[in-house]
Amino acid sequence: MRGRLQNKRSALHEETAPMPRSVAAVHAESLHNRDAFWAEQARRIEWKKPFKQVLDYSNPPFAKWYVGGTTNLCHNAVDRWAATQPDARALIWVSTEVDQTLEYDYRTLLAEVNRCAAMLKGLGVGKGDRVLIYMPMIPQAAFMMLACTRIGAIHSVVFGGFASVSLASRIDDAQPKLIVSADGGARAGKVVPYKGLLDEAISLSTHKPAKVIMVNRGLAEMPMTPGRDEDYGALCVKYDGATVPCEWVESSHPSYTLYTSGTTGKPKGVQRDTGGYAVALAASMETIFCGKPGETYFSTSDIGWVVGHSYIIYGPLLAGMATLMYEGTPIRPDAGILWKLVEQYKVVSMFSAPTAVRVLKKQDPAFLKKYDLSSLRYLFLAGEPLDEPTAQWIAEGLGVPVIDNYWQTESGWPILTAQMGIEKTRTKFGSPSFPSYGYDVRVVHEATGEELPRGEKGVVAIMPPLPPGCMSTVWGDDARFVKTYFSSIPGKLMYSTFDWGICDEDGYYFILGRTDDVINVAGHRLGTREIEESINSHSNVAECAVVGVADQLKGQVAVAFAVVKDASRIASPELRKAHEAEVMKLVDAQLGAVARPARVHFVTLLPKTRSGKVLRRAIQALCEGRDPGDLTTIEDQSALQQVRDCLAT
Ligand code: ATP
Ligand code: MG
Repeated sequence: MRGRLQNKRSALHEETAPMPRSVAAVHAESLHNRDAFWAEQARRIEWKKPFKQVLDYSNPPFAKWYVGGTTNLCHNAVDRWAATQPDARALIWVSTEVDQTLEYDYRTLLAEVNRCAAMLKGLGVGKGDRVLIYMPMIPQAAFMMLACTRIGAIHSVVFGGFASVSLASRIDDAQPKLIVSADGGARAGKVVPYKGLLDEAISLSTHKPAKVIMVNRGLAEMPMTPGRDEDYGALCVKYDGATVPCEWVESSHPSYTLYTSGTTGKPKGVQRDTGGYAVALAASMETIFCGKPGETYFSTSDIGWVVGHSYIIYGPLLAGMATLMYEGTPIRPDAGILWKLVEQYKVVSMFSAPTAVRVLKKQDPAFLKKYDLSSLRYLFLAGEPLDEPTAQWIAEGLGVPVIDNYWQTESGWPILTAQMGIEKTRTKFGSPSFPSYGYDVRVVHEATGEELPRGEKGVVAIMPPLPPGCMSTVWGDDARFVKTYFSSIPGKLMYSTFDWGICDEDGYYFILGRTDDVINVAGHRLGTREIEESINSHSNVAECAVVGVADQLKGQVAVAFAVVKDASRIASPELRKAHEAEVMKLVDAQLGAVARPARVHFVTLLPKTRSGKVLRRAIQALCEGRDPGDLTTIEDQSALQQVRDCLAT
């Protein structure tokens, strides 16, 4: 019976191919006719050897996609396009930090990647070896990532400028044979020297890399350790014109490992495969990001994060697009810089984060109207809840649809998103819309694992197998993969996202914050995000963080920290008090007195991770007089000091 049903389904698929053009139909197809669906998607990339089996799920929850197939990520991202469109732009690098722009077409990008691959090979790196990349946003970082996947080495990019302790723990986890770094990065006009941090990290780590390649930008001191450190410039001369063939690897061969942002605790080493990732990204470029070969894509993220991996480097290149890599902030030389770049390079799709939009929100909105944005189809935002006021402000300011998309380092590509390349659906502010094809998303009860009806809040879970592109395991720790992600919800084997969510009557999902960001005030369970949304709707608030703080009487109370736009309104203690009362009144009116924060503190910045996520757990710990814990991924320590100062008054 089962076999017959499956046969019938695949026959149906033959009839209905190509893809049905509705998001709901594609989604249903991807789950009910899974293997045929993903076999079809696999045609988007080139395989050296065809796969024999679409999915091996004999050992749940481990999913092996495209078993028996061999391919290469670099081949699909670079060589393939260098053969068909060698003169098309591939990588555009703009740095407002060092005032420099460089452009590479697919031919020159291939030459650079080949040269880096030759360097790596020459220094003893081979298939399966790890290469740790600790670099600023410069083209050499992209070359090196692609060079690694070209030779089957596994890259592990660590956000540039991370302190030595964080770097040391990642060196010990990834055990790289070689590290690539640079003398320094630059941010907001200040140089961040890397070499001292790197040397200190290597002295702290148990594992020692055999070789270090250093790119000298002429920004900072770069003392070299003889025998270990090599100069990139000298290696460029040595390997000029060298070519290295692509290493054809099994589809499940790890392409890279990457650590999560560390918002909720110790970062986890996410391991990504090769074939499934290439297919998932190639599909997403058309169905979600609406990009075509020859067009320009611009993501403001950093290569140190998953967005940088998937949508600065691999995704756009797999689609034959030009990718714009930007070293700089959104407000230097002025708050129009991002839009100036959109105009200049005719960007069609842009990807950024709510945190960047909130930075712009504090600036003159006239900048949004200053440039010709007619090339831009969509602005994609991800990484943090996108509150309605922020979404509305940027959508109206730019006159471009804003697409909120929800995903994780673990997933590698959007879990929830509008899929405008399939169907132009309506979006709702505050919602990342619908599950992407391949993701069997459920909202479940956190204690029983039971699926909840529409309109009820629960944990967002994904029924395994996870689709292609998602993490294969935790690097070096299969048990941690199962324990961390698949054991927190009782009942069935399910992947927990550790985020709260709700699916409304129309099938739109809303993410309501992390499962550890819920507060319980006198028996009422409140999501900190709802209170934040309310505070954010105050016209003088740029952004805020709300945490639950232990309270003898009520169990917990909400405490808010808000960044104001106009500081003159809190210039004296009396004004501050009045402003605080005004914010409280707003929450009262919108959510009811039970949600009213016990205190609203005003600060000039919030403690965030380097990827721009608010470190609520650290704020909460300080409010409760506890140790804030692992703070290795914090952006600016002074933000925590402000929290401490507020609490002292
Ligand atoms: P760690 O797992 O180490 O604590 P992290 O979860 O911040 O760190 P990431 O993988 O960078 O690491 O972030 C994924 C998380 O970001 C999601 O689980 C979710 O909480 C949040 N997030 C991402 N996109 C959205 C979005 N569009 N709306 C709401 N939240 C989002
Ligand atoms: Mg996470």
